[in-house]
Amino acid sequence: MIVKILGTGAIYSKRNCASLIIDKKILFDIGPGTIKQLLKENYNLKEINTILISHLHSDHILDFPTLIVNLEVLNINHKVRVIGPVNMKEKLLKLLELMYGNYFDNFINKNFEFIEVKENNYDILCNNYKINMLKVNHEGIEAYGFIINDKLGLTGDSSICDGVKKIFSNSKIIVADCSLIKGDNYHIGFNNIEKLLKENKGKIVIATHLRDDTRELLAAKKLKNFKIVEDGYYFDV
Ligand SMILES: [Zn+2]
Ligand SMILES: [Zn+2]
Repeated sequence: MIVKILGTGAIYSKRNCASLIIDKKILFDIGPGTIKQLLKENYNLKEINTILISHLHSDHILDFPTLIVNLEVLNINHKVRVIGPVNMKEKLLKLLELMYGNYFDNFINKNFEFIEVKENNYDILCNNYKINMLKVNHEGIEAYGFIINDKLGLTGDSSICDGVKKIFSNSKIIVADCSLIKGDNYHIGFNNIEKLLKENKGKIVIATHLRDDTRELLAAKKLKNFKIVEDGYYFDV
């Protein structure tokens, strides 16, 4: 799988919000900056057939209406699956309605399928990609991390929890929330990642959801297999 990092920033960062795309088809989170970055990189938005949503905070979903406007202009004629937590469909469609009334109702009904997950551990096969969705702990809000094809781990926003530990042990490369130097109830910190890398030899972590001040502090830390990258970075897994 080729993974393109579209955003590495937290909500306070000057960088795009944390988001990535797998093989030009599977989008993971869709916060501010996601669509502009895809267009900047000459991606064809028509190729997107799956959208994974970690949770319903603004920095992870606000580009949804922007995507819909683009896809309608491109006249897509395939189903796009959106997979995420309960109440996702209602929230995303409310966003769209606030901005465009009912203009996109028919387009959404024809081209979108929403799958809302309640389980702690949910598996789905999507166009030959094995997607494992695990509940993680983002204080007070339903949140999920993902393992794609038993290789790529995505923590989403989470504090250290069983779901995150499983994502580390069952993936080769992990794109991990590293909002803080010292983790709290909302976010993983560098201290948590240091420990997870010690417990899971040979794994590679790509830090994301970084505040700009955290990024500067992290740049001084030297830890094997821990990478800080910029928006637009890509890798093969
Ligand atoms: Zn969040
Ligand atoms: Zn966030």
